[in-house]
Amino acid sequence: MKKRVVVVGAGIMGLSTAFHLAKRGCTDVLVVDRGYLCGGASGRNGGGVRAQFSTETNIRLMQESIAICRDFAAAMKINVWFRQGGYLFLARTPERARDLEASCALQTRCGLPTRLLEPSEARGIVPELDPSGVLLASFNPEDGVLFPWPFLWGYARAARDLGVELATFQEVVGFEREGGRVTAVRLCRTTPGEAPERTREESLVRCDEVVLCTGAWSPEVARLAGVSLPNHPHRHEICSTEPLKPWLGPLVADLTDGLYFSQSMRGEIVGGISVEPVPDGIDQRSSRQFLARYARSLVRAVPRLAGVKVLRQWAGCYDLTPDANPIVGRVDDPENLTLACGFMGHGFMMGPVFGRLLAEHVLTGERSALFQRWSLERYRTGELLTETMIIG
Ligand SMILES: Cc1cc2nc3c(=O)[nH]c(=O)nc-3n(C[C@H](O)[C@H](O)[C@H](O)COP(=O)(O)OP(=O)(O)OC[C@H]3O[C@@H](n4cnc5c(N)ncnc54)[C@H](O)[C@@H]3O)c2cc1C
Repeated sequence: MKKRVVVVGAGIMGLSTAFHLAKRGCTDVLVVDRGYLCGGASGRNGGGVRAQFSTETNIRLMQESIAICRDFAAAMKINVWFRQGGYLFLARTPERARDLEASCALQTRCGLPTRLLEPSEARGIVPELDPSGVLLASFNPEDGVLFPWPFLWGYARAARDLGVELATFQEVVGFEREGGRVTAVRLCRTTPGEAPERTREESLVRCDEVVLCTGAWSPEVARLAGVSLPNHPHRHEICSTEPLKPWLGPLVADLTDGLYFSQSMRGEIVGGISVEPVPDGIDQRSSRQFLARYARSLVRAVPRLAGVKVLRQWAGCYDLTPDANPIVGRVDDPENLTLACGFMGHGFMMGPVFGRLLAEHVLTGERSALFQRWSLERYRTGELLTETMIIG
């Protein structure tokens, strides 16, 4: 088989990129995934979508992404349960409060309606919040939450309708190279299930371009093509409670301990928190330690949640980079390999806008300022710009 573009990974990044490639007329595209749709971080995340960031680049990107999310249901004919209840950030230390002030000033300059709130004012947004210990809060009413699964299904269906081929349970196990280019990807069929395993069924797909959208697996997949990446997987846990009557407008995020929680359209409180240390490598198991830490922090923020039952707990992997920003764009060697990884805990919300940007980049080969800023090369030159509004 021969394809113009092979996209590796059918998470939000891969599917959104494939959709935009096809929309621009490049329909000779194969998307492969070693597992099922929604098996990676894109099917395991909190669905939070926000423009409250500390760098202009991220703010501007998210202004476009939020607009896409707003129109997605109508455009793709699928309900993604997008609800703009805002994000309420809390800071409990002077350092984090300074971060909030600086970020809020920048967001205002970019045209966001974000405002800083005294702890007592934050109760105007979430009356059940216990503001003790909170020094400062910020609120952007345009941020929101969506249900990730139908977002993926929407992109998958739209890409297929335009002619893209999507093959799940196909793992990339190697790349054929000639000179400085990838000429083919080697695939191995895997067994369906929660933990796909390789079978003996291998195949080769020749291609002109490869786009690597393998999230937390990116370092190991890139290594197969001879590319060394500085990012690493980091387990992140999350849980959801029994459904409650709607009472919580925004997603609440505590910048100090990494707690975040929101209320889904079905009434569940969905949230997580950072836990250290976590096991090295890809690990998607749940831990009791997480639940204890999450419960303590959640009940400190909203004491009335003390009696609520957790019904479901799961985990996925963040794809962490040294400067908390993604790694995107073509690499020098092999020259027809494009990276789209390192999206930390905010890659789902970036998927809609990055799909468009990546498709343009792959088709034109143009390196915009954005692709230079977030190239793999920056780790060699040391031109790093760290994002500080990180959750979890
Ligand atoms: C618990 C949790 C909560 C989060 N909350 C949020 C949030 O609220 N908002 C937000 O924006 N982001 C959030 N994130 C981060 C977000 O989910 C990710 O940044 C985003 O989904 C990454 O998308 P992706 O397409 O790059 O990777 P993934 O969705 O992980 O997709 C990568 C795919 O590559 C496939 N793959 C791997 N190796 C191979 C191979 N060799 N061959 C073929 N296929 C392969 C995998 O099976 C997988 O499906 C959260 C993450 C977690 C874990």
